Amino acid sequence: MTTQYGPSYVRAIAPYVAGKPISEVAREFGLDEAHIVKLASNENPLGMPESAKAAMAQAAADLGRYPDANAFELKVALSEHYGVPADWITLGNGSNDILELAAHALVEKSQAIVYSQYSFAVYALATQGIGARAIVVPPKGTSSGAPAVKHGHDLDAMLKAIDADTRLMFVANPNNPTGTFIEGPALEAFLEKVPKSVAVVLDEAYTEYLAADKRYDSIAWTRRYPNLLVSRTFSKAFGLAGLRVGFAIAQPELIDLLNRLRQPFNVNTLAQAAAVAALNDRAFLEKSAALNAAGYRRLTEAFEKLDLEYVPSYGNFVLVRVGNDDGAGARVNLALLKQGVIVRPVGNYGLPQWLRVTIGLPEENEAFIAALEKALAA
Ligand SMILES: *Cc1c(COP(=O)(O)O)cnc(C)c1O
Repeated sequence: MTTQYGPSYVRAIAPYVAGKPISEVAREFGLDEAHIVKLASNENPLGMPESAKAAMAQAAADLGRYPDANAFELKVALSEHYGVPADWITLGNGSNDILELAAHALVEKSQAIVYSQYSFAVYALATQGIGARAIVVPPKGTSSGAPAVKHGHDLDAMLKAIDADTRLMFVANPNNPTGTFIEGPALEAFLEKVPKSVAVVLDEAYTEYLAADKRYDSIAWTRRYPNLLVSRTFSKAFGLAGLRVGFAIAQPELIDLLNRLRQPFNVNTLAQAAAVAALNDRAFLEKSAALNAAGYRRLTEAFEKLDLEYVPSYGNFVLVRVGNDDGAGARVNLALLKQGVIVRPVGNYGLPQWLRVTIGLPEENEAFIAALEKALAA
C-alpha cells in the first residue's frame, strides 16, 4: 500500500474550475488573443477604474514594505461609506477568502453548513475544506415542470434543513450561477427565523448591480442580527478582480473570530490603495451598472429570438439553456471556444444543459450572439 497523504475529506475535494484564461484558449485553438472575447468570470468589462489605476501607481513606490496589516485607510473608507465602526469590518483576499474564513472560524469538523443547490461553488469547497457536513437544499420546486433552477434559494426549506449540528448558512443574493434574487423583505423574514446559534453569510457579490427598486439595507440588518455576516467584493462592479479584495461587515464578535484566522497581510498594498479609490468612484459604478443593464436587455432579447430559455438575472451574467440534452452545454461551449468566445460551462454545478455568460461590452455581446447563432445552427 502506498501512503495516502492528507485527510480523506481533502482528497475528496473536486478542485474549483475557473473560467479559461484568454492566453490558454489562444494556445489551444490557435487563435489570436486580440480576437478572443472572454465572458466567463463575471468580471467588469470596463476593466479597472482609472481612479484605481492612479492610486495603485502611487502606492507602488512603497512595495518594499509590508502592507498595512490593519488596512487603516481602507477600513476608514469602508466605515464611512457603509456607516459602521471600523471594528465591524474585516478584509479578505477576495470575498472568496471571507467565505473560507467564515467556515474555518465558525464551524468544526463534526458540524454542518447549509447552502442551496446551484449556488456558488465555493460554499461546497469551504465546507469540504474543513471536513464539515454539507446540507444542500434544492431550489424552490414547481408543479408545472419548469426547471427549478429558475426559482432560486428555497429559504423555508433551508430553515427546515437546519439541524442540531448546523453552525453556518451561505446565502448568495443575487446568486451565482443562476442570477436569481431574493427580495429584501423575504430575506429579512428569513433572518428573523434563523436560530442565533447559526451564523448566516449573506454573499452579496453583485449587489452594486441591483436596480434602485430592488435594493435593501443588509448593512443595517447587521445591527439587529448578531449572527449575520454580510460579504461584499471589489471584484465585480468595482472592477478589481485581479487585485483580490473582499470585505465582510458584521458585529465585532464575529469579525473578531475571522480576524484571528486571517493572514495578517491578506490584502496587499496595491489592492488596499485601489479599493479606496474604487469605493469612492461613483461615476464608474454608475457607468458599470448602466452598461450591464443595457447588455442584459440585448442578450435576453437575443435568447428570446433564438427561443432559448434563460433565468432572469440580477447580476452581471445570464444562465441560458442551450439544449435539452445533457451534452448541450459542453457541445455549444466547444463550438463557442473555436470561434474565440469564452463563456462558462456549468456542468460541474449540475447544469449540463446550460451556459453562464457574463454581460460584456456591446461589441463583445454581439460577438457572443453571432457565435452562439452559428453554434446552434451547426
Ligand atoms: C465572484 C463571486 C464571489 C467572489 O469573488 P472574489 O473575487 O473572491 O471576491 C463571491 N460570491 C459570489 C456569489 C461570486 O459570484
